Amino acid sequence: MFSFGVRTERRTQMVDITGEVQRKVAESGVDEGVCVVYIPHTTAGITINENADPSVVVDILEHLDKLVPRSSQFKHREGNADAHIKSSLLGFSQTILVRGGRLALGTWQGIFLCEFDGPRNRNVFVQVVRAAE
Ligand code: ZN
Repeated sequence: MFSFGVRTERRTQMVDITGEVQRKVAESGVDEGVCVVYIPHTTAGITINENADPSVVVDILEHLDKLVPRSSQFKHREGNADAHIKSSLLGFSQTILVRGGRLALGTWQGIFLCEFDGPRNRNVFVQVVRAAE
């Protein structure tokens, strides 16, 4: 298994990690298979979405803030219940097929670490599994 760290800079932020994940796929030497990207955190998520127009991630973060506002009404005493809920909405992993030694992403797709309670140091785990022949 591979891993790398990401230092986030704001409370909510989407960090494009596509390049790092692709480097781990290349290091794995797997030509055809499956890449799992997973984070061992409870207030951050992993998603795939457009990385061409940067306003897309701004819209996603702003809309998630409207869906799950930061509030003192939650029971969780740590004050970051909104971050826990947003993380569960997006999920903690993504599975991407590997073809020809590369992530089989669409033209406009990128992989994002979604920070909901930053700034923090986050870890990303990447496992690349070769397809059976
Ligand atoms: Zn908490």
